[in-house]
Amino acid sequence: MFKPVHAGCLGMADIIDGDSIAAELREDLTAAVETLVDAGHRPTLATVLMSPDPASETYISMKQDDCEELGIGTRDVRLDTDAPAERLFETIEQLNTDGAVDGLLVQSPVADHVDYREVIERIDPMKDVDAFHPENVGRLVAGYPRYKPCTPHGIQQMLAATGVDTEGADAVVVGRSRIVGRPMANLFVQRAPGGNATTTVCHSRTEDLAAKTRQADILVAAAGVPELVDGSMIQEGAVVVDVGINRVERENGESELVGDVAFESARETAGAITPVPGGVGPMTRAMLLYNTVKAASLQRDIDVDLSAVGS
Ligand code: NDP
Repeated sequence: MFKPVHAGCLGMADIIDGDSIAAELREDLTAAVETLVDAGHRPTLATVLMSPDPASETYISMKQDDCEELGIGTRDVRLDTDAPAERLFETIEQLNTDGAVDGLLVQSPVADHVDYREVIERIDPMKDVDAFHPENVGRLVAGYPRYKPCTPHGIQQMLAATGVDTEGADAVVVGRSRIVGRPMANLFVQRAPGGNATTTVCHSRTEDLAAKTRQADILVAAAGVPELVDGSMIQEGAVVVDVGINRVERENGESELVGDVAFESARETAGAITPVPGGVGPMTRAMLLYNTVKAASLQRDIDVDLSAVGS
């Protein structure tokens, strides 16, 4: 049964430290990587970059660095943004059939002339560590997931690590995207640990958003709108998970990274809240590593205990 979170001693929300929760998961994953290496296989992630977005290069570098830190092997494939779509599809096919590669992701967005949906559908579902392939989405919705998408899975693990019981909770998710909002809601409604929540999904056509968010015991904000949710929209003692990453220009001309939640105002009402940065982001990164290790374990048929890290 859901228990409301009591605000810290100053009457302000507790801060959920995604960095330290993720660091613990990474330690467990390091041990799992060693088990696989001892059994004769180094888990390996291939990333493919064909993106017009300069930030994509940074994301790819972070993913490569994360893997190297844990001892996971990497392949870093980069294609010119004006290369034909067929070149990308051939690359995916080569990596699909490369026995040394366990996980494969194509960084989004891809170049405009490439159909991203087709990209996703061409990735071998066993190597689909983003969990975007329709087969993996279908399994998640049906209730027997193979891989879970990294951001919602990271949030689920973060709530578990914080002692937040989702069972019987009113969970409200703001956003219905394919990668965050909808899979988050799917996880919350599963008849499984980290699920069993009564779940509402809000989006840009939702009427009276504040009335919905105020019902939430657990509120996940994933709208991509800077500081959309303020303290007045939050139930006293609620757990608030801020997925948003938005760069905003302040009046003094400086730019700042903010979430979808107005942090200072939300802190006065919430029981616990994730910061930006240092909340959901590190959990997303950790769960990509989890999926890569799981992909290696499944495809190599090597038993690895991942129960402390994910599900
Ligand atoms: P999308 O733009 O794909 O989806 C945003 C969703 O929010 C849509 O469903 C949209 O509704 C809804 N929405 C937009 N405005 C409002 C509003 N005013 N009221 C209610 N709902 C609204 O974004 P993503 O899901 O990809 O990402 C969301 C945020 O999370 C972004 O800031 C992104 O950078 C960040 N992010 C962070 C990650 C992390 O690891 N921390 C990982 C992934 C994303 P509709 O469907 O009607 O358009």
